[in-house]
Amino acid sequence: MQAQLLERAKGLPKSPGVYLMKDANGRILYVGKAKSLRNRVKSYFQKVGALPGRTRLLVGKIAEIEITVTTTELEALLLECNLIKKHRPRYNVRLKDDKNYPYVVLDFTDPFPQFRITRKVIPSPKLKYFGPFSAGVHEIGRFLLKTFQIRDCSDQKFRNRTRPCLNYEIGICTAPCVALVSQEAYGKQIREAVLFLKGKKQILLRDLKREMGRASDKMEYERARTLRDKIAAVEKITEKQGAILSDTHFDIDVIGFYEHDGDLQWVVLFIRSGFLTGRRAQRMNLAFETLEDAMRTFLEQFYSVSLIPDEVWVANDFADRINLEKFLVDRAKKPVRIRVRRNEKGMRLLGMAQQNAKLLYEEGSKQSLDSASVQLQKILELKDCPHSIEGIDVSNLQGTRPAVSLVHFADERPLKARYRLYYPKTVEGQDDFAMIYETVLRRFGKPDPPPPDLLLIDGGKGQLQSAMRALDELKVEIPVCSLAKARTESAFTRKNVERSEERIFVPFRKNPIVLKEGHPALALLQRVRDESHRFAITSHRKRRDKGTLRESALVEIKGVGEKTRQKLLIAFGGLESIRAASVDDLVKAGMNRTSAQRLQEQFSRPEEE
Ligand code: SF4
Repeated sequence: MQAQLLERAKGLPKSPGVYLMKDANGRILYVGKAKSLRNRVKSYFQKVGALPGRTRLLVGKIAEIEITVTTTELEALLLECNLIKKHRPRYNVRLKDDKNYPYVVLDFTDPFPQFRITRKVIPSPKLKYFGPFSAGVHEIGRFLLKTFQIRDCSDQKFRNRTRPCLNYEIGICTAPCVALVSQEAYGKQIREAVLFLKGKKQILLRDLKREMGRASDKMEYERARTLRDKIAAVEKITEKQGAILSDTHFDIDVIGFYEHDGDLQWVVLFIRSGFLTGRRAQRMNLAFETLEDAMRTFLEQFYSVSLIPDEVWVANDFADRINLEKFLVDRAKKPVRIRVRRNEKGMRLLGMAQQNAKLLYEEGSKQSLDSASVQLQKILELKDCPHSIEGIDVSNLQGTRPAVSLVHFADERPLKARYRLYYPKTVEGQDDFAMIYETVLRRFGKPDPPPPDLLLIDGGKGQLQSAMRALDELKVEIPVCSLAKARTESAFTRKNVERSEERIFVPFRKNPIVLKEGHPALALLQRVRDESHRFAITSHRKRRDKGTLRESALVEIKGVGEKTRQKLLIAFGGLESIRAASVDDLVKAGMNRTSAQRLQEQFSRPEEE
């Protein structure tokens, strides 16, 4: 196979582009970009023996290569970034902590802007973001309310108020909702808040002091007192911070890293208008990328979810720096520079970031030796640490349609975007084994999203075997185990289980593994199992509430009384069928035509979440 792939690589164009490496089942294993597709792809198959272990493992699994030619390297970079985000290939470098950071956002959609705290950056000319803040973002939120009286209510609430809310009563809002403040005066509040959030505190204090002087000259003593309090509050919060770069108003991210044993620890120091406002640390496996590739991948992934500053400082130059700079400009729609800083200021801050990275790496290594996933790896005798775990749970909620929930945990934390709820298509009644079998077939029968490092089934041996049967049929190799709930003494039928703790079943092992309550590995499995159960219940509840809402909507329509409602439910068997029925069908079932038309209109309106 490798000889064939080498031949295929030799025939590829020498142009820039993106390559996708797939396994025999069509699953995307790796996405990469290249200046010359031919040279890059060829390099994987020329001296396989000389490749690092993990790369060799990848090359051994490749069955197919797909390429997309681009006209420039920048295009290739953009495409690669999108494809990695979409497919999350198993062999691409992944940040272990890819959660988003908190920002303060001022929303200018309304002439009276509101502020919110958010973790999601949505590029829009109407949204102005400040941060990220590693800590104290809620303190900043409170400060904006107390000192600048910026509204924090939703636009919907704002538009529907007839009286101000409690915020006005306690003096933290000027109540633009009922026009107790003019647009001009509120605009001034916003300008002050922006100066504060941008770190331009000297300008803010100068303006406030001038205004206080004018108020006092005009003998407006109450206003002068309010301004005096505002100045004191800004001075107090400013005192807590010292400027780290006194001569800049730029937003700068300083990047430091430490590499050891194929692991990279990153640290980003956020410098906003000269002040160090926070720090973020991320760790990634170097996998088989070079350090230069890892640098590019890190910056690409990091700035896909973080606000892009005016400058990014790095200690060393790397091959893709200029392309990456263009990529950031393209995303941020403003000038952005990636600067290699070797002057005194740069060395000082970059040195600080590197030092932080080393310390964090050492701390993290100590902790990761004891982490729950590492312990689970040992207990289940897995080849790799289960960084990603998927949990499957069959819900038996009375009176509702059976469903199977699937939850995903990445690095011991829930990743809700990957949660799914499956309604059985081929199973009649409540047959848990068949439902697990069907769900595993449906989930892993598709190449995307990539499989987890461990699959956890809620239940005992029977449930585990149903999952294994489906995986065998699909020829998908994923470590799998099941977790059975604790049993009471009277429920024991076999002597070899002597305690009533939760039991972990693994394939081809007669007796379950029993860990002490509170064991980190057991606690991790319990969290995944409980989360899948919680997800099943809440999803069911939402559906049921929507159903009830819709059912009650039946009665609210003129001409639909209790009798008609019953008739319709008997004739069609449920709301979904009533919704699908034509006006003629509804008339046949006993409604008059006008009510039938009204009912259809009601059902064709979008559902509210
Ligand atoms: S007083 Fe009005 S504008 Fe202010 S927070 Fe309350 S509802 Fe919003």
